[in-house]
Amino acid sequence: MVTTKITIAVDGYSSTGKSTFARLAASRLGYLYLDSGALYRSVTLYGLGNGHVGENGIDREGLQKSLDGLKVSFRKTEDGSFRTMLNGQDVEEKIRTLEVSSHVSRVAEIPFVRRFVDSILQEYGKGKGIVMDGRDIGTTVFPDAELKIFMTADRKVRAGRRMKEMEEAGKKVTFEEVLANIDQRDYTDTHRKTSPLSMAADAIELDNSHMTLDQELDWLKEILLKRFGICI
Ligand code: C5P
Repeated sequence: MVTTKITIAVDGYSSTGKSTFARLAASRLGYLYLDSGALYRSVTLYGLGNGHVGENGIDREGLQKSLDGLKVSFRKTEDGSFRTMLNGQDVEEKIRTLEVSSHVSRVAEIPFVRRFVDSILQEYGKGKGIVMDGRDIGTTVFPDAELKIFMTADRKVRAGRRMKEMEEAGKKVTFEEVLANIDQRDYTDTHRKTSPLSMAADAIELDNSHMTLDQELDWLKEILLKRFGICI
């Protein structure tokens, strides 16, 4: 039986399977799972919709003012998964398009956007018992998280996984397009000034290039038991 409640931060590069891993870990632990990327994606979708984000760049002033009218929340479905809601509208699919993916890193590097998202995330994490995935959870959002995991995988393996996901969702994209998007996001995420993607000094690295999800969970199981006496 799980008694101690901890905070688990899962950070890492794009398409390393962070959300699948984090969601499953949360479900095994009976914890809340939160996908921080969904919030950056929602801000991006919102900005694309109101014209503050586009091919010609970002109207930062306009975007900042418009954030007052943005409310992002999560709705739990019957199967226990979460749907992202933007001002009461379900946008779970809309935030996953290649259009949003290709602008999101530029939006996520803006300091006022990060502050806006951080305050929502920190509110959700107040009571512990949460698994959150992202890029800066262990370094900035929850620097005191008891367990920090940093996920990596070979970039081509990641592109292959992402492409499969998109194909399954009926989206036509080429491997080159997906790989280019992953490379671009890796670059922007690791080079931005505010909260760049980096491994926290006290994080444990998980390279899952050649691992199955079951093997990843076994890896986690061992750590939880050894470090915290938590059995899942
Ligand atoms: O995790 P996901 O790929 O959906 O995140 C979308 C984008 O949001 C990332 O490429 C990254 O630029 C940004 N992000 C971030 N910090 C987080 C989570 C996501 O900058 N904690």
